[in-house]
Amino acid sequence: MRWESWPHGEAFLKEWEQLLSHKRIPAAMLWVGPEGVGKTPLAWTLAQALLCPKGDLAYACGTCGDCQVVAKLEHPFFWLLPPTGGGKPLEEALPLFRQALSQDPFLSLSEWEKLLLGGRGSLSIGVEEVRHLQGFLTLASTQAVWRVVLFWHAELLTRQAANALLKIVEEPPERTLFLFLATRVEALPATLRSRCQIKKFPPLSAQVLEKLAGTSLSVAQLSLAQGSYSRLRRVMDPAQAPYIEALRAWLRALLQPAGDTDWLPLIETLAQAPQLSDLLLMGVSLIREHPHLSLPQKNLGIDTFLRVADEIEAHLNPLLLLAEATVTLRQYWQKK
Ligand SMILES: [Zn+2]
Repeated sequence: MRWESWPHGEAFLKEWEQLLSHKRIPAAMLWVGPEGVGKTPLAWTLAQALLCPKGDLAYACGTCGDCQVVAKLEHPFFWLLPPTGGGKPLEEALPLFRQALSQDPFLSLSEWEKLLLGGRGSLSIGVEEVRHLQGFLTLASTQAVWRVVLFWHAELLTRQAANALLKIVEEPPERTLFLFLATRVEALPATLRSRCQIKKFPPLSAQVLEKLAGTSLSVAQLSLAQGSYSRLRRVMDPAQAPYIEALRAWLRALLQPAGDTDWLPLIETLAQAPQLSDLLLMGVSLIREHPHLSLPQKNLGIDTFLRVADEIEAHLNPLLLLAEATVTLRQYWQKK
């Protein structure tokens, strides 16, 4: 796995080499940034660099036995903690997670949720998983090798799990790196955050997105993607096209004088979108850039969209939520 293959890779490598040269490798790092900016493939590349016995902790050889098992996410000292749910224990979820991530290092949380739970239930990293981790960490490592523990979407750590972790991170075993990847920094308790070196990953530039997509992108595509490669792929997915079109048409309908457009078929289409909460987040960028809305109107629209997206994540009835949002927004957006 090569640093330069991933967004932010070369910049991160420079910072990492700095830490190495000062022998200041932190015991825990918290990487924060939106989904789809490359945190996961970078963490994976870093794990390989640390676990390769022939490397220098910055570059892996890429060919030895250890490198090969890290590349398959099967290295015993690369401990993966993705969120699970639906009563599925980690052991059951892991083979699926390894497979999904190997096929797509930019796997999104909603894709993972769909894969693991089929859209039923919700995901978290629970205290049971942390107890398993404790067992793994107390196993004496016979060689002077590194261990890497990756919390994928650490914002989904339960309070209890985060508390159980505190003690471990406070007194970390030697040569162990805890990597917490999260989309929101404040979702982790301050006590845990304060033990981590925090690094922020900004959204990707248009140039980087075009390089990843291997094609030039329209202004509309870039604006919907909001600097996230995972979101860009959904924007470009032909299966999503009718839903994106329904979203645009619904927004237009909301802005027209009452009675002109029949919005019910539009929200019926939208309610069937497989990734509706993501779609609403795309809607947020459309509202933000809308030329005819005032700032307070934009803010109310954005708040409404974000709230509905959250409630859909909580499995409330999407059609009902969209109908309520329609009433609220029509009232407010048509006020002059
Ligand atoms: Zn190697």
